[in-house]
Amino acid sequence: MSVSRQCVILVGGKGSRLGALTRERPKPLLAVGGRPFLSYLVQEAARHGFTRILLLAGFKAEVFADEVAALRAAAPATVDLKVIVEPEPMGTGGALKFAGPHLDETFLLLNGDSLFDINLLDLSIALPDAGVARLALKAQPDVSRYGTVELAADRVRRFAEKSAAGGPGLINGGVYWMRRAILDHIGPGAVSLETDVLPTLAASSRLFGKVYDRFMLDIGLPDTLEQAQSSIPAQMRRPAVFLDRDGVINRDVGYAHRSDQIVWVEGALAAIKSLNDAGYYVFVVSNQAGVARGNYTETDVKALHAWMAERMAEQGAHVDAFSYCPYHPEGIVAEYAKASPRRKPAPGMILDLLQAWPVQKADSFLIGDKAIDVEAAAAAGLPGYLFEGGDLRVFVADRLARRP
Ligand SMILES: [Mg+2]
Repeated sequence: MSVSRQCVILVGGKGSRLGALTRERPKPLLAVGGRPFLSYLVQEAARHGFTRILLLAGFKAEVFADEVAALRAAAPATVDLKVIVEPEPMGTGGALKFAGPHLDETFLLLNGDSLFDINLLDLSIALPDAGVARLALKAQPDVSRYGTVELAADRVRRFAEKSAAGGPGLINGGVYWMRRAILDHIGPGAVSLETDVLPTLAASSRLFGKVYDRFMLDIGLPDTLEQAQSSIPAQMRRPAVFLDRDGVINRDVGYAHRSDQIVWVEGALAAIKSLNDAGYYVFVVSNQAGVARGNYTETDVKALHAWMAERMAEQGAHVDAFSYCPYHPEGIVAEYAKASPRRKPAPGMILDLLQAWPVQKADSFLIGDKAIDVEAAAAAGLPGYLFEGGDLRVFVADRLARRP
């Protein structure tokens, strides 16, 4: 069973609490750290493997038409970005219903004006059959500004609108894993998910939730928009774990290039998920000299990585980028028969990733099963650790426990 790669983002709100700022510009397009806030959400969805992104626009939709080309250009090449414009203000539920024909059986839904820094795939793995949606929740010391959510085990018992009563509680983090069946619970006309649909689903025990103790910010108020200017870009700077592939993630059988040759190392997928949950970037850095040696092609390598990504997603895990080096000086395929600064023990693959992603080098490290892996890490200025077999989840947990 493959996991849906669709991410729907609600970008149709008016942002009335921001006054003049949103008179001409929809809130998700306001600049944060020098670029549209929405571009962070697209980037976050893309790195989790959500490649089909649907923007549900309404207010000032014509501005989206102008900006979508820039958003596409800034997004990874794998991302397919579409905009659906509601014909009249329909509320968040109405907008979703209007987009119905374009929705997968299950999909990720994001509020377009907040960022909750969680492992987005974690939400997808535990929606019970009886459930229509699973929500990411955040504990707040004072909920007076928000609607509140009451959770009993994994079930949402009550989904309440804003009330005057303050104090600690759980709030909706604006990230949902949903079944398309939610459309059956949305009536005609203007309907709000938060005031109409979710409270009803909670009352009929079809709404589930999980609390995440992670960074969350919505840009709906002048002071939170100001705060976002530094805190959102800072939040995107994460430490990274670089993983060798053969011998660390899957058993090294020698030039594996087909899915039937993959035997996962014990705990490998759980180890990757634990790094996703902890807020690390996870990169694969793999020498694939089999391409230069004519054993298989780059197309095979990419197809295998896509297959591996599917299996990871089923367990709530993902790799942010698979890097590989197809070159070898003694290769027999002419175009790959050369030395490469990316081939380990040279650090090229790691350096390229450090360049392309906002990695915080402190607290980043590599795990490999050979000396050349650790040498490549050292040449890139990172610690490298030798994994000599066993359970990778335990190995990673041990590394994380020793963080300074
Ligand atoms: Mg290896």
